Amino acid sequence: MMLQCSLCGAAVREDSLLWRCGCGAPFKADFGGIPPMNRKRIRSGEQGMWRYGASLPLERPEEKVSFGEGWTPLVREEWNGMKLFLKLDFACPTGSYKDRGMAYLVSRLRDQGIHEVIEDSSGNAGASMAAYCARAGIRCRVFVPSYTSEGKCVQVASYGAELERVPGTREDTTRAAEKAAETAFYASHNWSPWFAHGIKTFAFELWEQLGFTAPDAVLLPAGQGSLVLGCALAFEELLSSGEIETLPKIFALQPKNCAPLEEAFREGKPIPGKVRKTETIAEGISSAEPVRGREVLEAVRKSGGAVLSFSDREIWDGFVKLARRGYFVEPTSAIVAAAAERLSRDGGVGRRDTVAAVLTGSGLKGSGKILSLFASPPED
Ligand SMILES: [Zn+2]
Repeated sequence: MMLQCSLCGAAVREDSLLWRCGCGAPFKADFGGIPPMNRKRIRSGEQGMWRYGASLPLERPEEKVSFGEGWTPLVREEWNGMKLFLKLDFACPTGSYKDRGMAYLVSRLRDQGIHEVIEDSSGNAGASMAAYCARAGIRCRVFVPSYTSEGKCVQVASYGAELERVPGTREDTTRAAEKAAETAFYASHNWSPWFAHGIKTFAFELWEQLGFTAPDAVLLPAGQGSLVLGCALAFEELLSSGEIETLPKIFALQPKNCAPLEEAFREGKPIPGKVRKTETIAEGISSAEPVRGREVLEAVRKSGGAVLSFSDREIWDGFVKLARRGYFVEPTSAIVAAAAERLSRDGGVGRRDTVAAVLTGSGLKGSGKILSLFASPPED
């Protein structure tokens, strides 16, 4: 399998074990002419996301690393008169949508015969990586920022991964992991060309669960933007196979306290610049330096959607509204409710449009933080 640089186009073999191009940009996967997904290519005998295995090539598919993740429920809601479908990806095995990307990423690591990896994460991806590495018998060290929710840290350590808590920002954590990667393979999900391909299965499921149609708009939390990239990959495949006629509008959602993609989108810039970042209750999408920022912005613009930002107060109000409807998600995920609230009131999406949103992570991981937010909610 080949990797292709997303910026300069240079091609390298996957077994070179490079995690980025010599020019500094991330790689994309080159599947070398595998046909795009269509309904005839669905493997109905497979569990979960692997029903779309035809678009997830592996050297030894029978040895894939999987817990049967995916095929999560899609639940219809009315939101101020807007037709909203919630995709319950917090129902994945480790409690977050990251399991989709990790199932494919770790399967590819196993294909490559890798025995030891380093990952850095704001929490959910680290927990997911630790679980899949436990299943694959791969040694795993996970670097997280010291502010990461206790629930996620306990989860990472329980799976048997070595947990490194790094003081400072999310970016300081990345730098610590990159340094450690001088002696072990840096399997960062943000740099990996495979991760977004696993993530794309949520969008294939949306299409199939909506009766083989695309929604008109999709609401996605965005830090590094893997959901945006996965969504774009899936609907591009479906467009090129003739299964759908138009791409859904992608709304990428960021916290106001850390919104590099939103700022670049608003100013018409091709890549995110430096931003000032402050603490946010949406810890899972607090990424000041998105590795694939250029690709994320391109995907959103091509879809005709937008990048929007929300205050912690709006996100918290969204959390409470979701919880009162029976959804217990982590505050990061609640940003989709803040977006539904705004778009349904200001007409950002049409009255008859079908809107889908992904609920990305379980509230059970952050119950301590949630408790303190009930005690003192964020102010405007
Ligand atoms: Zn390059």
